[in-house]
Amino acid sequence: MPTLGTNIKCVCPGYLDISAKTGCSQQSERRFTLTFYNTTVQKDIFRMSEDPIISGIDWQQVTAGRVKYTFHLKSVQQWGYQLRYEGTNLIVSFRHPPHTRSLTTGMIEQPLSGIKILLDPGHGGIDTGAQTPSGYREKDVNLIVARLLEAELTNRGATVYLTRSDDKYLSLNDRVAIIDRIEPVIALSIHYNYIPEGADAQRNQGVEIFWYHHQSRGLASSLHDYIVNQMRRPSKGVDWKNLALARPTIAPSVLLELGFMSHPEELNWIIDPSQQQRLSVTLADGIAEWFRSVQ
Ligand SMILES: [Zn+2]
Repeated sequence: MPTLGTNIKCVCPGYLDISAKTGCSQQSERRFTLTFYNTTVQKDIFRMSEDPIISGIDWQQVTAGRVKYTFHLKSVQQWGYQLRYEGTNLIVSFRHPPHTRSLTTGMIEQPLSGIKILLDPGHGGIDTGAQTPSGYREKDVNLIVARLLEAELTNRGATVYLTRSDDKYLSLNDRVAIIDRIEPVIALSIHYNYIPEGADAQRNQGVEIFWYHHQSRGLASSLHDYIVNQMRRPSKGVDWKNLALARPTIAPSVLLELGFMSHPEELNWIIDPSQQQRLSVTLADGIAEWFRSVQ
């Protein structure tokens, strides 16, 4: 049975690293839990001097071979983590909160200065996504709204990255790899919905936002409420779902389904250029509002 040696060291200003043998992780409010199997606690030294993220660590030998480490966190909002192996060590890195500094350039307030945001326009290339009988394709609307949102976020001071800026095919793995490489502060995947054949098109409309890790839940519900209230759009809810673009751990990541292309009136709203512009302004304001609320 392997034994567990744990040490904590700060390897760079943005991260706190914990080295340990193999395990699995789970997030909840103000808590991050690592469970290790086939492991016995041997010796543990925690040096917690002035850590800005973690207020304490405790551990429990749950059963003969199972050890659970609980990291107690100082803030409700968690900003991402990464698990990786170095030899036989599992390195866990927690991200520090972003440094937002609201600048005013000329007469324009830039509340997102210093914030790196990744936008993922869903589908592309041979993958059209939803398609209406009249020929509107989800991949095109996703890209239009992502480009408009890119401009609005840039105006507010953010540095914006797109997984695609033209009509090209990217696999889900490609998109996740870009998020892991860029390490944005938040990642948003932009989609529109379509009901399956045979379902009642009139009964399904509205905004739905998906999250997977606990760190993304607040962003999902805050953006959902902001769009629904500000634009008076119907709500389809805020839901947990195991989706590739909601699964990245490096940053709060959410997947937005902004409306149903299968709903005749909602489709008119979806393809209207002035409404697309309004939506991108609302989304950018909603993102800035969320950052203000969690700082
Ligand atoms: Zn889609």
